[in-house]
Amino acid sequence: MAQHYKKESITIERLELFCGWKDFNTYGSAPLGRKSQNLCGQLWKEESVDAIKDLQVYSCEERPSFEQIKSSSRFTPTTTGQQFGPSWSTHWFLVELEIPQAMSGKEVHLLWDCNAEALLYNEQGVPQQGFVGGKGICRRVDFPVTKQAKGNERFTFFIEMAANGLFGVGQDGDIEPPDPNRYFLLEKVAVAVFDREAWNLLCDVTLLADAARLLAPPYKQQALRIANDIVNTFVVDDRRTWNACRELAKEFFQQKNGDGQTKVIACGHCHIDTAWLWPYEETIRKCARSWSTQLRNMEQYDCFHFVASQAQQMEWTKEKYPELWKQILSYVQQGRFVPVGSTWVEMDCNLPSGESLVRQFLLGHSFFRDNFGMHSSIFWLPDTFGYSSQLPQIMRLCDIRYFMTQKLSWNLFNRFPHSTFLWEGLDGSTVLTHFPPADTYNSLGNLKDVLYSVSNNKDIGSCNASLLLFGHGDGGGGPSPAMIESLSRMKDVAGIPRVEMNSPQVFFDIAQQYWHRYPRWKGELYFELHRGTYTSQAKVKRGNRNCEWMLKYTEALCAIAYFVHGKPYPHEHLQQLWKLVLLNQFHDTLPGSSIRQVYQDASRHHAKVCRELEDIMKETFQLFVEKHATTNQQGVKCSWISEDSSTSAASLHSSYQLVICNDPFPDEQISYQTTFDGKYMYLLKKDVSWEPNTFSWSFGIQSAQPVVHGGDDLSCDSVSIQKTVEDVLILENAYLYCQFTTGGHLTSLRRKGIQRDAIQSGAFGNRLVTYDDVPLFWDAWDVEVYHEEKYWEWQPAKSYQILEAGPWRVVVVFEYEHHRSYLWQYVMLDILSDVLVFRHQCDWHESRKLLRVEFPTSVLHSMNASFETQFGWVSRPTHRNTSWDIAKFEVCGHRFADLSDPSFGVALLNDCKYGYSVKDNVLRMSLLRSPKSPDDQCDMGRHASFSYGLFVHEGAFPQASVWDRAQSLQQILLPPWQAVDYPFHDSLAPVMHKWIFSDYSETFIRIISPYGNVLWSALKKAQGQDAICIRVYESFGCPCDAQLVVSPLLAIRNAVETNLLETDRKIVAPTRSSHQKPRENEQWILNFSIGAFEIKTFLLFQ
Ligand SMILES: [Zn+2]
Repeated sequence: MAQHYKKESITIERLELFCGWKDFNTYGSAPLGRKSQNLCGQLWKEESVDAIKDLQVYSCEERPSFEQIKSSSRFTPTTTGQQFGPSWSTHWFLVELEIPQAMSGKEVHLLWDCNAEALLYNEQGVPQQGFVGGKGICRRVDFPVTKQAKGNERFTFFIEMAANGLFGVGQDGDIEPPDPNRYFLLEKVAVAVFDREAWNLLCDVTLLADAARLLAPPYKQQALRIANDIVNTFVVDDRRTWNACRELAKEFFQQKNGDGQTKVIACGHCHIDTAWLWPYEETIRKCARSWSTQLRNMEQYDCFHFVASQAQQMEWTKEKYPELWKQILSYVQQGRFVPVGSTWVEMDCNLPSGESLVRQFLLGHSFFRDNFGMHSSIFWLPDTFGYSSQLPQIMRLCDIRYFMTQKLSWNLFNRFPHSTFLWEGLDGSTVLTHFPPADTYNSLGNLKDVLYSVSNNKDIGSCNASLLLFGHGDGGGGPSPAMIESLSRMKDVAGIPRVEMNSPQVFFDIAQQYWHRYPRWKGELYFELHRGTYTSQAKVKRGNRNCEWMLKYTEALCAIAYFVHGKPYPHEHLQQLWKLVLLNQFHDTLPGSSIRQVYQDASRHHAKVCRELEDIMKETFQLFVEKHATTNQQGVKCSWISEDSSTSAASLHSSYQLVICNDPFPDEQISYQTTFDGKYMYLLKKDVSWEPNTFSWSFGIQSAQPVVHGGDDLSCDSVSIQKTVEDVLILENAYLYCQFTTGGHLTSLRRKGIQRDAIQSGAFGNRLVTYDDVPLFWDAWDVEVYHEEKYWEWQPAKSYQILEAGPWRVVVVFEYEHHRSYLWQYVMLDILSDVLVFRHQCDWHESRKLLRVEFPTSVLHSMNASFETQFGWVSRPTHRNTSWDIAKFEVCGHRFADLSDPSFGVALLNDCKYGYSVKDNVLRMSLLRSPKSPDDQCDMGRHASFSYGLFVHEGAFPQASVWDRAQSLQQILLPPWQAVDYPFHDSLAPVMHKWIFSDYSETFIRIISPYGNVLWSALKKAQGQDAICIRVYESFGCPCDAQLVVSPLLAIRNAVETNLLETDRKIVAPTRSSHQKPRENEQWILNFSIGAFEIKTFLLFQ
């Protein structure tokens, strides 16, 4: 007897056979002999197909609701063995069953396997539970009909089958492009008796077998012995022995832990990608499938808690499944359905603007407050591709103290050294952060993951607890009964970490007690993978950037119109448009890692947002013009909305503006330049006067008078282009001297007054290079480090043409051909600008290639380069010293990257790109990729417009001129400017729809700061309060005193400082008018101090 421990692997294998998981599936394809001997084989009995009395189907291509189909006459009889498709179609089944008399007194389940995703509704149309067909580990094909059958009772169900798998319909692999023609077999429809005693014993032995395999002595040996005894005791057809087996198991499970045992807080979770390998519309149904399933788990298991994030998914559920939503709310009240995360969606954190990140929290918080009466203090983001260094501050200002993620466990280079730590952001804000050490957000809730939560917890000495997220993600139905059974057995068993299924708040309540012990990580949490997501799907990035900028100015204009003229503020409308933009910042949409359908949706959404914002702006702007056009100024002046900066006051372009108009100005005296595409370019002289030595940014309405060429002091300046006898093209204005070869190579770029050339001696800039871009696995996601070893430099442009030669702008177009792709590059320099602009049209037809532009600069020895990030900038190495430096071979930047030394710098600006790579002295920007999965058309074909610009500056970085030039490249498109269809051919001059004549000019708000370092991020009406909300930030990293100067038109009397949720009210002092008592026509001024990279939000009251 009892030799089992002498060769333990034999006994463990015996236990596995006894459980039978390996051979098992619910419809019994296990070998008969095995099935009759193992525990899985005992689960389902008396299966009956005859119990299905009626089975009908209604198929369609759309996704109709229950209400739309319930009384349809289109249901027709069907049977198992039929195939249903094609991909993405919907099949509503009506199932009527009658439980056989023989099942009376027993627990009866419906078995349904359609090899696809499905959702069972009761007769009243309330979702009950999801099904996941197919062979994967997420498989769930049974639904408990009754715990105790009476016999002969009838049930009617509706089942909505989606013709897609859990991970969409990829051809030959999950992340491959969708196969539009997939069909799914309805394999099984039956009822069967579920043997709960067999199930309970199975769950016992499964955990014992794991314990025998994974625990340390002596628990390992104890588990092995007891489990072996169970197998010896068990007699399949003698129920009394089953009870004896359970008693044996108790011997192990009832041994308690000592005080020092660690704690694992297990949170039931179902990570649902808001779009990915399926479109948004399918996600709505995935939520219903996953969450209804969880309500059944809660009914079954009192100890079970489920954690859900993403307000958008909740709003969908509320709208589309009101009954299900009511049930969810009742579990929220009990604290068992736990909403966390606070954001609108689990967004990408690299690419959205700072203001977008704020709105993710603001709108998410509003939803939580309005629907649950609660605020989540945890930012929940298990799966995103890098974390902005300003998130700690944004969290702090949203009353969020804790952060949970785990994605850095995917790092390909360096193992992140902490599990529980303090994350300190750019401004010094700190949040308590935890990376669940099981390194997954889809744990199976087994002993292996529980133990790994401990052995991989790098800070367990500081805090003896960990979080574990368990449940099948992406509509896999979340936690399964097997997981809950497993974890509930680990509550307190000697040798096994104490497991408590609960809310993540319980973990953070424990963890926050040891704040003083934790290590600190300062700055961004850079993700050493998925660097292709800064570039993939260029159009979604362009759309997002346009929407962000238009939202900023539309809100500002509407707020001013409301407070000056009482024009109703379109709060609801703007909120809806923000929601669309925020939705498309989801962590597989904006990064470019979704299927094509998702980008068709995103592009529709972005177009809608731009169109509607433009309408709002035009209408609002018109109001100002009508109210303020005091005299008939037609033919003399025109007005528009502008953001101006006196950082550029030294140059001409603060007091002049170029515009391009479709129609000529009515006064024929006014001179213009004809553009190469037949439009009219005018130079306007603005009514602006900047005080000397102030460094300020302002927002207002500007008026200007078109300049009569030759009749103005500008006539001494000019811009020119000439071709020398050596075939060199020279572009020159008052600020820049630029020298190109006729092949498009930039051989010299000098800022006048500085001797130094920005281009490295002997090298040339504007170098186009295609890199081989074949990542290891995640095509749309990754650029791998080895891509740098294999590349093709483009041949010089095959032709060039001078399109415009002044007097106000010069344009030369270079035409390139490379492999199967074409690029038309319009190099532009205008009379007002010190930025050399490159705009592009491209026809891109490559496979797994990355296109970059490269500028070898004369900044040869700088160890770091600077990149704009949300509300500030970050520094990354230009060298490859350590593995941490190497891993940053491609990084994210917003509107610019700057490479400077103490006396001189070069900034590479962009209008819709994010991928930068600065190595040694070479500034490089990624322009296009061509991954083939999950969208094989990613970035293929025409790109109407993307731009970059080069700006050379004297002195070190940071300086406001870099932000100012990045801003001008961004093209603020304000009425009467054209917003939606970007013309590709403009330089820094916006295009005008039509002339709007008015001499109205007003600067509504100015921010004066010592270096031009305080910028505004939002100007809007406050949430639910009658106040102007203005958000500013310090962009350099220099604490300073600044001033907010508000036009008397706004009649501001006092102000409070608030948080990002606009719930705080801190009286700001001193606030004062420029005189003691506010008088009419006096500006209202607020003096304030602001810290390095600090974000401040003020509410201004009339
Ligand atoms: Zn995800």
